[in-house]
Amino acid sequence: MIEFNRPHMTGNEFEYIAQAKRGHVLAGDGPFTKKCSSWLEEITGCAKALLTHSCTSALEMSALLLDIAPGDEIIMPSYTFVSTANAFVLRGGVPVFVDIREDTLNLDETLIESAITTRTRAIVPVHYAGVACEMDTIMDIARRYGINVVEDAAQGLMANYKGRALGSIGDFGALSFHETKNIISGEGGALMVNDHSKIHRAETIREKGTDRSRFFRGEVDKYTWQEVGSSFLPGDLVAAFLWAQMEEAQTITDLRLSIWSRYHNAFASLERAGVLRRPFIPQECGHNAHMYYVLLREDIDRHKILQELKQHGIGAVFHYVPLHTSPAGQRYGRLHGSLALTDTLSERLIRLPLWVGLTNEQQSQVVEVLSRAICRQA
Ligand SMILES: *Cc1c(COP(=O)(O)O)cnc(C)c1O
Repeated sequence: MIEFNRPHMTGNEFEYIAQAKRGHVLAGDGPFTKKCSSWLEEITGCAKALLTHSCTSALEMSALLLDIAPGDEIIMPSYTFVSTANAFVLRGGVPVFVDIREDTLNLDETLIESAITTRTRAIVPVHYAGVACEMDTIMDIARRYGINVVEDAAQGLMANYKGRALGSIGDFGALSFHETKNIISGEGGALMVNDHSKIHRAETIREKGTDRSRFFRGEVDKYTWQEVGSSFLPGDLVAAFLWAQMEEAQTITDLRLSIWSRYHNAFASLERAGVLRRPFIPQECGHNAHMYYVLLREDIDRHKILQELKQHGIGAVFHYVPLHTSPAGQRYGRLHGSLALTDTLSERLIRLPLWVGLTNEQQSQVVEVLSRAICRQA
């Protein structure tokens, strides 16, 4: 049995949780939360990193921070996780789905401008597989039209665009530490605030709409309800676990990159034979090996391939069902033009097992079984 994902432990997770317990600080913004936030600020260069319960929470915070109101339009890909859209729909926002690029499966930046209307408030680029969207173009459009950019960098920690950390380029960035991501705490996330003037408000929204963060820093003598917010901050036990992961972030990324490269080399000949396509990494993107996928030739039956992999105990999976085809996506969203690439690419994609600890032998087995299954149909 080769699982699709196996959460990796560095070994210090429970020692740090024990330390947090001995220190008698279990609620949010304790010593471990501070360590994690400072580390994120250091390695990404964001003005402020605020730990949250999930990337979903961080996206919801960004919708509150942008004062998204009913009818406001948010441009995003349909090929993404539900939270990208849900966070804005919760405020009454309307997701406007734009097609993706054939090469990276990221939002097609050349289609964004024509999707902008007088109601457009934000663009949400999703850095699929830890490979950056074309951020220079996206930021330029956003500035010219006076709209905001929220990066869904759920998969993007330790990846960069022209040397800049994903999530640190737009107004806000949202990270995920869900157990399926590279750096994990079971459930977990962070909001990256990239403009100093937005930090206080972000802290307030995260603390139930109160100025409690300022109170703890001694900046005000009591704390009160300031605006609409919620409880978005995780306890220090979660942060203690996360800190053990962050300490090893570079090692984890390097190990993942070597597994990614082995797959990439192994599938080069099948790509040359035209039966599949491998992931494409643009020159300006430093990726983090979040995911390895292949795109099958159009006439190959993906369902049969997945079944065959399953029969051999290999946990390969398809990915997003495009949001514009889902019941909620149809109810709350709107399409901008054709989503032809979203439709076809999402149906051709297979994700392969990629986790720290996956052995060379296991990987060879995945390559062998998948290659055989494809060639039988080709
Ligand atoms: C994982 C993921 C999310 C959600 O992250 P959570 O931490 O589980 O809320 C959002 N967007 C994308 C693109 C993701 O991959």
